[in-house]
Amino acid sequence: MDDMTSLQAIYGGTFDPVHYGHLKPVEILANQIGLSKVIIIPNNVPPHRPQPEASSEQRKRMVELAIADKPLFVLDERELKRDTPSWTALTLKEMREEAGAQKPLAFIIGQDSLLNFPSWHQYETILDNAHLIVTRRPGYPLEMAEEQHQRWLENHLTWDIENLHSQPAGKIYLAETPWFDISATIIRERLEKGEPCDDLLPEAVLEYIHQHGLYQAG
Ligand code: ATP
Repeated sequence: MDDMTSLQAIYGGTFDPVHYGHLKPVEILANQIGLSKVIIIPNNVPPHRPQPEASSEQRKRMVELAIADKPLFVLDERELKRDTPSWTALTLKEMREEAGAQKPLAFIIGQDSLLNFPSWHQYETILDNAHLIVTRRPGYPLEMAEEQHQRWLENHLTWDIENLHSQPAGKIYLAETPWFDISATIIRERLEKGEPCDDLLPEAVLEYIHQHGLYQAG
């Protein structure tokens, strides 16, 4: 039996702002499959997305506040420190070099990100360096739009978590995490309208948002 606590995961995103839809599925996933650590990497200038509303420093600070009492998570600032786009493929290549060839690594994405994953820079190379673990998100199918991408998915799919621990990379696991109908977009819109967001993100993050006047109208 392999060490079921050795698997490290990496979780990238804009986190504009970080919310429970990011944190809760991953905490549940960690219990379900035995994750020792989740490294949160906020993006710098995400290539496929409009620019974030909060600055890099503010997005980083909000992640720090969100994970302050959660030892599962650690923050990694490497993408924020670059002035080039955040290519996940390159970050994972770098992390693989640091971890050595044998250590199991996993990259976590939500179901929506799986659907556009084939449009990511050098997406095929990502599985050379890490497994892909997909958390559920309401409102998105679990099938790829194009047949060649569905074949790619099926070729890498595993339902056996043992494979995630015994192999360093290369598998896709569709996790059975509960749905959290939360997005940063919804939170920004609610804040702009002055609507409450208490159940959507950690209190310390919400306080930071109010203190710094983030996501306000005008
Ligand atoms: P936005 O609304 O600004 O597009 P977002 O809420 O989707 O942002 P991101 O920072 O872009 O958040 O997402 C980072 C990662 O978190 C992605 O892999 C995304 O799929 C995942 N994610 C975000 N919200 C959820 C959610 N509610 N459930 C599951 N995964 C989620």
